Amino acid sequence: MRDHHRFRMADGAELVGRQGDSFEMRVSIPSDDNGFFGRQCPECSLVFRMDVQQYEALPDSLALWCVYCGHHAEHSEFMTEQQRDRIMRAAGDFAMQMVSQELDKMFGGLARSSRGGSISFSYRSQPFYPRPLPGIDEEQLVRVRTCAGCQNNYAVFGEHRYCPVCGQLPAASVAFDALQADTARLDALEALPTDAKALLREQGVFTRNWVDTVENVVGVVEALASSLFRAAVPNAASLLNGKGAIFQRLDHMADLIVTAGFPDLRAALGSQTWQRLLETWAVRHVFTHNDGIVDEKYLIKVPGSSAQIGQRLVLTETVCRNALDDAKALCETLVDMLR
Ligand SMILES: [Zn+2]
Ligand SMILES: [Zn+2]
Repeated sequence: MRDHHRFRMADGAELVGRQGDSFEMRVSIPSDDNGFFGRQCPECSLVFRMDVQQYEALPDSLALWCVYCGHHAEHSEFMTEQQRDRIMRAAGDFAMQMVSQELDKMFGGLARSSRGGSISFSYRSQPFYPRPLPGIDEEQLVRVRTCAGCQNNYAVFGEHRYCPVCGQLPAASVAFDALQADTARLDALEALPTDAKALLREQGVFTRNWVDTVENVVGVVEALASSLFRAAVPNAASLLNGKGAIFQRLDHMADLIVTAGFPDLRAALGSQTWQRLLETWAVRHVFTHNDGIVDEKYLIKVPGSSAQIGQRLVLTETVCRNALDDAKALCETLVDMLR
């Protein structure tokens, strides 16, 4: 009988080998109903999930990226707390038996006492029955994402910028993902039960969310356009010199892209879409800089508005959904044009 079979291990833990003084133990990590398991970043402590089958096919030497902070480290460092507890229990079970077997060897399992000296000692060996290992009950995934680069599936619980396997996501993936998240947020608020909705509406959650959506849209386009432009235009640095936050200003951005030798965004998108985009950017401007109070500049950009100077703008869900659709069209055009 091989030596390591003398140990009783709970289901899911198994001693698979021994080399000299060191034992090799394998502890199963159960996956969830979707076949995913958790990974926790040792740097920012946030959790994401990965497809177990795909994970097992990855090389042993794999270094993972944290999807949130981009921490890059050996994959075994990404153990979740619950996984660690399970492994520590199995290791503890093993250690208990190790110690009791050493004691058996020393005392032969017999009770002894010494009356002559100052120490008396009694020891009787007890059979060890391991308790079941703690299970894994972690946050369930909401949506499976597939990396366009490596095709691996993963799930996140917040804004992310990295694929766990290939690292930094392309700017386009980040942009479309962000627009999708904004749409999902509008949907989630809409789908709430009526009384919950009424409560949140009264607290301004809906209006705040609409303002956030418009602000996000502008940020998403700015980040994408800047990244694509810098990658596509060899003399980008000199063209951008002294231009400030030019990717926040639609017409200036369109002019810049023409200067760099590309087609005109305005023509590519059509004048109606472009005008709606200009209006969204104007809305964002008054909310970011003046709490939504209409000024002269706003009325010049949005000639069809019935608002008066000094009034506060009121957004609607429809305005936000249109802004998201237009922004998506703009991002798609930028990706096509600056590839
Ligand atoms: Zn992290
Ligand atoms: Zn990837």
